[in-house]
Amino acid sequence: MSIDSPGAPPFGAGTARRARIVILGSGFAALTAIRRLRASRVDADITVVSPRRELVYLPSLVWVPSGARSGDDLRVPLAAFFERMFVHWVEGSVQQVQDGGRRVVTDSGELASDVLVIATGARTLRALPGIEHALIPCEGIASAEAIRDRLAAMDGGTIAFGFASNPKEPGAVRGGPMFEFLFGIDTLLRRQRRRDAFKLVFFNPSTQPGQRLGPSAVRRLLERMHALGIETQLGHKPVRFEPGRVVTEGGEISADLILFMPGLTGPAWLDASDLPRSEGGFVAADGHGRVRGLRQVYVAGDAGSYPGPEWMAKQAHQADLQADAVARNIAAELRGQAAAHGFRTELVCIVDTLDAGMLVYRGGARTFALPRMRAMHWLKQHFATRYLRQYR
Ligand SMILES: Cc1cc2nc3c(=O)[nH]c(=O)nc-3n(C[C@H](O)[C@H](O)[C@H](O)COP(=O)(O)OP(=O)(O)OC[C@H]3O[C@@H](n4cnc5c(N)ncnc54)[C@H](O)[C@@H]3O)c2cc1C
Repeated sequence: MSIDSPGAPPFGAGTARRARIVILGSGFAALTAIRRLRASRVDADITVVSPRRELVYLPSLVWVPSGARSGDDLRVPLAAFFERMFVHWVEGSVQQVQDGGRRVVTDSGELASDVLVIATGARTLRALPGIEHALIPCEGIASAEAIRDRLAAMDGGTIAFGFASNPKEPGAVRGGPMFEFLFGIDTLLRRQRRRDAFKLVFFNPSTQPGQRLGPSAVRRLLERMHALGIETQLGHKPVRFEPGRVVTEGGEISADLILFMPGLTGPAWLDASDLPRSEGGFVAADGHGRVRGLRQVYVAGDAGSYPGPEWMAKQAHQADLQADAVARNIAAELRGQAAAHGFRTELVCIVDTLDAGMLVYRGGARTFALPRMRAMHWLKQHFATRYLRQYR
């Protein structure tokens, strides 16, 4: 790889060469952007940089501890999709973005871009002392498999579940999946007829955990915990983890296994880059997905911080909506039009419990959470199969 000469000709309608669109990451936002760009008939060179030529379907991670899914079930190879979309894939990890987004430095070389799309997702904050004594369920396939193996090796004991947000950007939180791990493990232990040997404790700094899902969801989730005999320790910030114990401002929880999801922040490579950042460490964007103050540099998905309601979620669904708008804006700009497309803020999720699920919706003025239904578990599985078909 080499960077083109700075004197390269301009691009776009009626100019000498095709635009070079560089997309960082191959997750939800990146792939949706690619689909929309090609559907909008953007005839540009598209290069994707990511460490592996695959999509990891994170929403199904919650089924790994029970063995309902394996790590390999979640990995979707992308070679065929990239070929269909005329995408050039470069194996590498971004280390820096420089020159106002025109130069991307990776661990395998440098790339020049005319249009840059940042879609490298979020990163877990590891600020709490003793975090190494907890497993972080949402970090990826390896963590979910580690939970599966730890559960299999336990004869009984206490499992503590918790999550927190980024204090500087409270929306940067992954609460929904933590409820899924909690309820899924409860269901699994009941199926294995050994729930009596375990105490499950849910702890959270808020007295209304998961409030971004809306008040009716919080009420239903807490009622469900109560019905299942899951103990709650709410309203106390976790302070540190020690071997066999969670220490909070309100006391200690003894635990044989700690599952904790810290708040989220922006990707580590931003530290060495010259890009505007939000309070919480994400790429600062406007409502069109444009990185603030830069030309033809966009961000979509969990890597960005966007204006909108405080409940805007770090969700694949939201990432897809942002990426769709970003791609439409790129298409418009390449045609010499204004980047005027915004994205809808919408939260849709099924909080799965391994045998059923609770549908939660927020959008516009509507917020609701339906009671748990068996059909929702099947719907979540069916959705995953259908969603992934477009990349297989
Ligand atoms: C357990 C769990 C359950 C979830 N359930 C749901 C759900 O039910 N519904 C829902 O909508 N959302 C759900 N989410 C959230 C959803 O997965 C994320 O919001 C979504 O993955 C964000 O998409 P993204 O494209 O921004 O980032 P990601 O999907 O994280 O993709 C980031 C991409 O960037 C790549 N990358 C990372 N660093 C670099 C680098 N330095 N250089 C190049 N590439 C890099 C990665 O390899 C990856 O390809 C869940 C998440 C978890 C963890």
